Amino acid sequence: MIPIEPWLAFLLGLLVGSFLNVCIHRLPREVAVWNPARSYCPECGETLAWYDNIPVVSYLLLRGKCRHCGAPISWRYPAVELFTAILFAFIAAQGMPPLYTVKFLVFAAIMVTLIVSDFEERFLPDAFTLGGAAVGVIFAYYAPVKFGALVFILQGTYGLPMASAIEALFAAVALSGILWVLGEIYYRIRHKEGLGLGDVKMLATLGAFLGLQGAMLSLMAASVAGTVVGVIYMLVARKDFATYELPLGSFLGIAGLGVGYWLLGSLVPFH
Ligand SMILES: [Zn+2]
Repeated sequence: MIPIEPWLAFLLGLLVGSFLNVCIHRLPREVAVWNPARSYCPECGETLAWYDNIPVVSYLLLRGKCRHCGAPISWRYPAVELFTAILFAFIAAQGMPPLYTVKFLVFAAIMVTLIVSDFEERFLPDAFTLGGAAVGVIFAYYAPVKFGALVFILQGTYGLPMASAIEALFAAVALSGILWVLGEIYYRIRHKEGLGLGDVKMLATLGAFLGLQGAMLSLMAASVAGTVVGVIYMLVARKDFATYELPLGSFLGIAGLGVGYWLLGSLVPFH
């Protein structure tokens, strides 16, 4: 497999970001991602011509307005495309073996989607949380991680790829399972939701890609950052503490990207 050049990863990131925008818009509205296949203006419903659908470029040429109805296009579209492109180029520039590069490109794409979707819609689509966890376990086999208790115990018997996949599956199930139980106990006592089911599923994704330690670290960082930013926001914007819903998934996603980079040395054993 040929290594992916950073500039190529940047272009790929623009296209992937464009697709993620479609997912972010359509999944919470229960519109199929592939049908209609062509992008349309959410305001007037007009199908977009290819030249009005070029990542970042079209937004600038159209000055952020729909060609047909003149409705403003959210700056979220070019922002997601550009952010995905920069992340992709950055990951490709790390010089990892190709399969590890692909693994982290997929991880980054999942995190970008969840960060923006939770921030905008307070929605974490199963296709990316549960689907992401499944993909993470498969990647743990083909781009194995060399640390974790189960890897240490099982490596000799089953070989590194299988031991790494079992470790990833265990991290995903154990962490989300524990948090689901804690969430249920909290709900029974307080009669309100502490941790959303979407957040629990997202922790399974983090567990599968970053291992048990990486996912727990992400959860702690996201909880602290989320609480601090959330309290400041509620005070400044004069929001009600009782009804404001913090997008924990957005903080988990940012923390996950940071922790992933921080642990890269141990997540990529042949690096
Ligand atoms: Zn329009």
